[in-house]
Amino acid sequence: MRPVVGPILHLRRLLVSNVWLLDGGPGDRWLVDTGHWSERLTLAAELRRAGIGARELTGALLTHRHSDHAGNAAWLQRRFGVPIFAHRADAEVLDGTRPRKRLVRGEGSRLAAAIAQFENYAPVRLRVDRALDDGDVVAGLEVHWVPGHTEGSVLYRHATTRALLSGDALLAAIPPLTIRQGLALPYPTFTIDPAQALASLREFHRRGHPYAHLLAGHGRPILGDARERAERMLAEREVSAPRPASV
Ligand SMILES: [Zn+2]
Repeated sequence: MRPVVGPILHLRRLLVSNVWLLDGGPGDRWLVDTGHWSERLTLAAELRRAGIGARELTGALLTHRHSDHAGNAAWLQRRFGVPIFAHRADAEVLDGTRPRKRLVRGEGSRLAAAIAQFENYAPVRLRVDRALDDGDVVAGLEVHWVPGHTEGSVLYRHATTRALLSGDALLAAIPPLTIRQGLALPYPTFTIDPAQALASLREFHRRGHPYAHLLAGHGRPILGDARERAERMLAEREVSAPRPASV
């Protein structure tokens, strides 16, 4: 657990994906993402280290529905009564009212295909407490809908600290393994529509929303010059979907 910017802490011992804690004090304590179910005990331990019981969480906001981000949401909800928030489009997939698009391997590696198959066979199922829409603001976080990685992927922009919490819509580590650090687009094998994901990201930046720090779903925080770096990366890309690297 480490402070990053303002009230935002990084629960650093979670290794599969990033979980962020916005600690505004009692009654204003939020998680952004919940980690993979295999790291449930680590999540509980990290909260303890932050001096917070799970019951003290005001809510958990999901960047998207994938199991490495939403994997502990149902547990937090049922066991501790933590309200879960997600964009409406992913909320409808999570509760089964909208069909779930399956991930396909495409040009991705065999390892990525195996991970994608696991997501296809063991997806998160959950009834969210509040469905979010583009333009909503919760816990000081603006909701920006950037469909493509999933139907309801969002960026959360924390205007007061100029932090962007991006889930898998904009990565800070190179997929599919996300061990090597660096700015990256969503990995096609894990993304239902890579071209739409890229277009959504371009549109968000075209609208000019300022941010300085990127707190992504994978990779270490990129502090200070994140927007400039993201704009450079987007400018270098063709409009077509990026080719995946092989593992
Ligand atoms: Zn994802």
